[in-house]
Amino acid sequence: MIGGISVERKLQRKKEDKKGRAWIELDYKNLEHNLKEIERVIPQETKVMAVVKANAYGHGAVPISKALNQYGIEHFAVATLREALELRRKKIKGEILILGYTPVGDRELIIQYDLTQTIVDYEYAKALNQGEGCIKVHVKIDTGMHRLGEACEQVELLKKIYACPKLLVRGTYTHLCVADSRKKADIEFTNNQIERFRQVIDTLQKKGVDTGELHIQSSYGILNYPELSCGYVRAGIALYGALSSKKDKTKIKLDLKPVLTLKSRIEMVREIKKGETLGYGRNFTATQDMKVGAVSIGYCDGIPRNLSLENQEVIIHGKKTNIVGNICMDQLSVDLTAIEEAKQGDEVILIGEYGKEKVSVEEMAERSKTISNEILSRIGERVIRVS
Ligand SMILES: *Cc1c(COP(=O)(O)O)cnc(C)c1O
Repeated sequence: MIGGISVERKLQRKKEDKKGRAWIELDYKNLEHNLKEIERVIPQETKVMAVVKANAYGHGAVPISKALNQYGIEHFAVATLREALELRRKKIKGEILILGYTPVGDRELIIQYDLTQTIVDYEYAKALNQGEGCIKVHVKIDTGMHRLGEACEQVELLKKIYACPKLLVRGTYTHLCVADSRKKADIEFTNNQIERFRQVIDTLQKKGVDTGELHIQSSYGILNYPELSCGYVRAGIALYGALSSKKDKTKIKLDLKPVLTLKSRIEMVREIKKGETLGYGRNFTATQDMKVGAVSIGYCDGIPRNLSLENQEVIIHGKKTNIVGNICMDQLSVDLTAIEEAKQGDEVILIGEYGKEKVSVEEMAERSKTISNEILSRIGERVIRVS
């Protein structure tokens, strides 16, 4: 029989089969360690809201959130309603805040699944204030990012938001847009954002408004402005043990350890002769007789195509070697000339470490001219999350 449950069962018969062609392994000890590191530097009264949007930055939102629940985390943030629903269906406990806009037509689902919606402006508050039942919300205030949030100058509109009878306001927050920078002008801008937030909160509270728990910082807010005392910090990338960029300097340093290892397999090994080309576009030419391997992971799985010909490294049998030729949708090729023992089925580490050798997500991001957040969150759906 093809399809259905019987195939799934057969596929998952053994742990080894379960991994398939490309998979990630999670190091829960490191996740717990990173959480402790964050908790060590924030004020005692401040709690960590774990940002698990985009499938927990590619790690797998359900296993990561389940583990975090066990480590005592009771607040989560996601980007979309679907992400929130998945967590709730898989029995994740605590507050789940949707950071983005949810169409008003889905209001009932938010209430039914006990989710918390971000109020992005006054118009949206008015719309969500219609209908059956009350809806839990956090109010977002714009202090300079100019993405979501009611403008901090609009005190009257903000007051009206808090006065909506069907909105149960549990928190109020803002988002910093240059908290990662140590440039003087950027620090000034950030301090200004923080000050604007403080002032509008102060004004509202003096008028008797209950603003709920406050939160400002994401990972770089924690690393560069650790002294702020709020209800929560919204920790994303730091929780996963990475910085956005390798070269980032931060006010405080945390001992962050990567949670994710990305692996694949050698599908086949072959010899190519000096002068022969390899792959699409024929843009790699062997400068000597070579042994090469096809590896079963490609750009659909999150290895950026622009890493082709950039000497991006992988680890095989504890040895580093390079990706060669153009990265394809489902596969890429590696140089196996110096790795005698490499054979079909062997593991390839794309992100991770083995012994002394390491390929970090920060390195991969730098070579592909982006940030770790993008590399991790774009690890594809076909990559199996082994938990
Ligand atoms: C994604 C996001 C975060 C987490 O950011 P990191 O830099 O990964 O810690 C926090 N707050 C908001 C509003 C976000 O969109």
